[in-house]
Amino acid sequence: MSDSDLPRPDLPPLREVINAHGLFASKALGQNFLFDEQLLSRIAAIPGRLKGQNVLEVGPGPGGLTRALLRAGAKVTAIEMDKRCMAPLGELAEAFPGQLTVIEGDALKIDHASLFDGEPYAILANLPYNVGTALFTGWLSGETWPPRWTSLTLMFQQEVAERIVAPSGSDAFGRLAVLSQWRAAPKIAMKVHRSAFTPPPKVMSAIIHVKPGDMPEGVSARMLERVTEAAFGQRRKMLRQSLKGLPGALDALETLGIDPARRAETLSVAEFVSIAKILSA
Ligand code: SAM
Repeated sequence: MSDSDLPRPDLPPLREVINAHGLFASKALGQNFLFDEQLLSRIAAIPGRLKGQNVLEVGPGPGGLTRALLRAGAKVTAIEMDKRCMAPLGELAEAFPGQLTVIEGDALKIDHASLFDGEPYAILANLPYNVGTALFTGWLSGETWPPRWTSLTLMFQQEVAERIVAPSGSDAFGRLAVLSQWRAAPKIAMKVHRSAFTPPPKVMSAIIHVKPGDMPEGVSARMLERVTEAAFGQRRKMLRQSLKGLPGALDALETLGIDPARRAETLSVAEFVSIAKILSA
C-alpha cells in the first residue's frame, strides 16, 4: 500500500461531532479539545511515519487526534474514560475498519503490558496535566530498557515541558529533568497556543517528544529516583544535608569527588547517574 492508498473517508467536522453528541467539555476530566485538523495532522506526524505502526492514544476525547493518526495509516488503540466519547469513537472505528480499538477506562489503571500482543508501539496523548505527568513518569521509570514503547509524543503545559528538557544549572532543572534525560533525549517538538483549544486553558502548551536512548550500565531506575527525590526534596539545601538520609550517598559523593556543599540543581545528569550507580551496586 502506498501513501496514496491510505484511507480518507469523509468525516464530519469535529465541531459537528461535538454538537451531535452533546460533548460539552468537562472540567473535571480536564477536557480541552483540539479541532484544527491541520494542527492535528502536524502533531500526528511528530513520531514519524505511522503507516502500519501500532499507536497507543490516551485520552482521545471526541477523536480529533485519533482521526489524524488513522489517516496516517496507524493501528490505534485508544483509552478514554469519558463514556460520552464512546459513540463518536465508535463512528471513527467504523470509518476506518480494523484500524481502531477503543478501551473505555482510566489509563492510570490499565495494564499496558497486555497491549498490542507484545509488539512495539508509539504513544501519543493530549491529557490533563496531572494524568499526563503520572503516566509520563511511569513510562520513563521501568527497570527494563529499552521499553516496548518506541516514542512518547505528549502535550504538556509549557512550563512542565520546559522542566522536562531543562539543562542542569537552570531554575527549571529538577527531578523531572533527570528522570527524563538519563536514558532518553526529550525535545520540545512544538509549542501550541492556548487559543488552539476549546475551551482555551489558562496557560500555553508544548508537545514533548521522547525516544528511548541507551541505558547506562549498572544503574537501577528505582535508585536514581530515590537519589533525585532526596536531592531535590530539599533543593535549596547543600547535598550533605539533603542526601544524609540516604545510606551510602555521602560516601558516594566523596568517591566521585563531588563537593557536598553543592546544591542539587548544579549537578549534571551524568553525576546523578554516577551516584545512583554506586548506590545500586
Ligand atoms: N485528545 C483530545 C483532543 O486533543 O482534542 C482530547 C484532549 S482532552 C485535554 C483530554 C482527554 O483525556 C479527555 O477526553 C478526557 O476525558 C481524557 N482523560 C482524562 N483523564 C483520563 C484518564 N485517566 N484515562 C483516560 N482518559 C482520560
